[in-house]
Amino acid sequence: MKKQELLEDDLKYIWHPFTQMKELENEENKPIIIKRGKGIYIEDIDGNKYIDAVSSWWVNTLGHSNKELNKAIAKQAKEIEHVIFAGFTHKPAIQLAKSLIKLTNNNLKHVFYSDNGSTAVEVALKMAYQYWVLKGKSIKRKFIALKNSYHGDTLGAVSVGGIDLYHKVYKPLLFEIVQAQSPYCYRCPCNCEKESCNEECLNSVENILKEQSKEIAGIIIEPLVQAAGGMIMYKKEYITKLRALCDKYDILLIDDEVAMGFYRTGKLFAYEHAKIVPDIVCAAKGITAGYMPLSVTLTTDKIYNEFYDNDIDGTKTFYHGHSYTGYPLACAVANENLKILKKMNIEEYLKPKIKKFAQELKKFEKHKNVGDIRQCGMICAIELVKDKATKEPFSYEDSIGKKIYQKGLKLGALLRPMWNCIYFLTPYIITEKEIEKLTNIAYKALNEVLPND
Ligand SMILES: *Cc1c(COP(=O)(O)O)cnc(C)c1O
Repeated sequence: MKKQELLEDDLKYIWHPFTQMKELENEENKPIIIKRGKGIYIEDIDGNKYIDAVSSWWVNTLGHSNKELNKAIAKQAKEIEHVIFAGFTHKPAIQLAKSLIKLTNNNLKHVFYSDNGSTAVEVALKMAYQYWVLKGKSIKRKFIALKNSYHGDTLGAVSVGGIDLYHKVYKPLLFEIVQAQSPYCYRCPCNCEKESCNEECLNSVENILKEQSKEIAGIIIEPLVQAAGGMIMYKKEYITKLRALCDKYDILLIDDEVAMGFYRTGKLFAYEHAKIVPDIVCAAKGITAGYMPLSVTLTTDKIYNEFYDNDIDGTKTFYHGHSYTGYPLACAVANENLKILKKMNIEEYLKPKIKKFAQELKKFEKHKNVGDIRQCGMICAIELVKDKATKEPFSYEDSIGKKIYQKGLKLGALLRPMWNCIYFLTPYIITEKEIEKLTNIAYKALNEVLPND
């Protein structure tokens, strides 16, 4: 089929996510048809190549078309592609669960499988609530969630979401939560400076707990980075102190590592920076290096043991599962991923790249519309503002992000700014030279859209 035909059929038959379909009719918004990928590049059917600066929606870690990962999928497909996961089990799932627990230094003890980040969050919320029910405290049914948070697009995950544009319309369908402040250091809700603050924004959590902890089941956070909220970054001390608050007021800490897990912040899980252990951890995006949908919800003995019993009436069973729970193909490629990461000595491997990004970010400092530059491990973000002194943001109608996106594509990079935030979240295998190239493209795109004169 010719390109034109493919595009017509795409528009006719497909409903794309997060997309106003009518806009795709415009020539400049036509989706790009990708044919193949290699390493950090993706290539369209006309042969144009783009640096995948968003890791294909934050999932890819080892680049596209990795031979070993593809081989692991093919090998597993020859054995068993899928099998029911109740009453049956299989080696890839067992091996993966064991490896994951070992990687957490045995701080987490049990793995529940599902197949995407949102469902890993649903599992966590249901598990947390039922834990309290089983302890005879079914009154603990509310969750605390943060402003600007994103935990996925299914209704439970939307309930704990805090981004009005995505979440507001569904409000009548959602369960009740209590919203606390966002630890948004650049626009601090408590007017503090990052360097000298004492996590004053945590007071909003404690104030809720002082009044309502009897009814609170737990709090859910994105550790260190509120990603979809605009790559909002905060200090590890916040998480350390939050853990103490959870203990003091007897609520559970749910840690949504869907975006940050699997070394995005430089460590396996971001919570490790804060030297704490959450009660429940959700992970997904990097787990298969981006090759298969898979997610996990990990938990401790404290939670698990509350369910583990002679279950006469079925009330102690965790009623959750998906058709693709423990999907063998996905588990097999996740195992291969872990094997490769270990061989690479991934934490050490990432250090010079993280440093290189920090250096290259400096070139953005002088630009008149750059309000804030932030970095956490392999995530970098540049928040653009209309006015540096007042931090006045660009409005939605300015479409700054979209314009930079389009310039970026012409210059050979898939940058997908969020709100007014340019960010880099690349596959880990990007070289230092390529980091230079990518940041130069972004800088050029920025200057074409917002000349720095
Ligand atoms: C992407 C994301 C999710 C949802 O994951 P899906 O696989 O898209 O359902 C949940 N939480 C966080 C923090 C995410 O970034």
